[in-house]
Amino acid sequence: MSPGQDRPAPMPARQRLAVLGATGSIGASTLDLVRRHPDRFEVVGLSANRDVEQLVALAEEFRPQVVCLADASAASAFRLRQQGRPSLSGLECLEGSAGLCLLAGSSDVDTVVAGIVGIAGLASVWSAVQAGHRVLLANKEAMVCAGDLLVQSTLASGALMLPIDSEHNAIFQCLGTGYRCFERPSGVRRLILTASGGPFREWSAEAIRGATVEEAVKHPTWSMGRKISVDSASLMNKGLELIEAHWLFQVPSDALEVVVHPESVIHSMVEFSDGSTLAQLGSPDMRSPIASALAWPDRIESGVAPLDWTSLHQLRFELPDLARFPALRLARECLAAGSMATNLLNAANEQAVAAFLDRRICFGDMQRVCDTVVQTLGSRLSPPVCLDDVFEIDRQARLAADYCIGSLEP
Ligand code: NDP
Repeated sequence: MSPGQDRPAPMPARQRLAVLGATGSIGASTLDLVRRHPDRFEVVGLSANRDVEQLVALAEEFRPQVVCLADASAASAFRLRQQGRPSLSGLECLEGSAGLCLLAGSSDVDTVVAGIVGIAGLASVWSAVQAGHRVLLANKEAMVCAGDLLVQSTLASGALMLPIDSEHNAIFQCLGTGYRCFERPSGVRRLILTASGGPFREWSAEAIRGATVEEAVKHPTWSMGRKISVDSASLMNKGLELIEAHWLFQVPSDALEVVVHPESVIHSMVEFSDGSTLAQLGSPDMRSPIASALAWPDRIESGVAPLDWTSLHQLRFELPDLARFPALRLARECLAAGSMATNLLNAANEQAVAAFLDRRICFGDMQRVCDTVVQTLGSRLSPPVCLDDVFEIDRQARLAADYCIGSLEP
């Protein structure tokens, strides 16, 4: 792969895609769309963390030039699998964060689908932005940790940021095709993010505190990876989305609302100053927002079932209950406090979710970990001014979170 370029080239008829996080849920939805439109999209790069088997299967099907495994031993295993397999010969296998950055910033790529989970995706998003690519952003943690820096970098490089998180994609669609992310939209009074409410919407605070892993990952309307499913159950996901929306759409915290909408048919809304509200509706299937960003500003067939208006008997809306879902309150407080606090929150939450999924702490403990880390380090560290600062804050927050998790373990 050759190094990146400063300015985006005009979009070719067939977009060359790097799908980062190809073995995950966002990766699967993206690749389903590529299968439907081989004339419009060509996969030149795929990445995974450790899932060698799945990456081998995808590489044999899509024939990219490059794959990257973030985990070095998984990359070695992949290279072993390449031996004696004609379908994988000539394929370059990169590894680690440096490999991901090389792939994301390559001038052989037009569009990067950022589908890695967690801050692990930040460096590659940064490379893609610096190379001036189209970036289809699912990896909300990158924006939560380094929103300000990504805004500046995108404006400087001329990269095009297209959100595929369903709420942000809905807002982006409502703002019209003339709108570009990181501009303050004119005539907008409020952005209203909808939330399904997750599997514990009607549970008592006590029951939520003791929820099991199986209960937490069973989302009522969306099928997603395990980390975002847990975040959706605690409503931390909605908190991270508030922070993401603040940076993407350049609106202050008090112009961002969250409304619980259990049917997940309205994916978000924009309220304009003249009293009009535009909403984007559709079946809860990530192929819709991804297709709209892949083809932007055109439209393509996505395979998503249309809404059945005759069976949609009601659309309900409720205010989120911050007493039962304190993660949303904490995320708002961190947004008000600034980049360092949102960085701490993300790191603490990633460690807490991992510990919960490993059954080391209970569901309610995740909030204690996040509260403790934000309170303990919030006044001790300085706000990040470069990417290295972001990673250093992240490192310190993870140490503090691990300490707190250790004290909570039975
Ligand atoms: P998954 O867990 O399904 O997939 C995560 C992907 O990232 C996998 O390919 C995984 O590889 C890879 N990965 C995991 N850890 C690392 C690492 N340390 N370094 C490099 N790659 C890594 O997650 P989702 O697809 O659900 O979510 C991805 C992102 O998209 C998240 O930020 C999420 O918040 C966001 N998002 C997801 C939605 C969804 O519907 N799923 C909706 C909106 C946003 P491997 O398989 O080898 O572990």
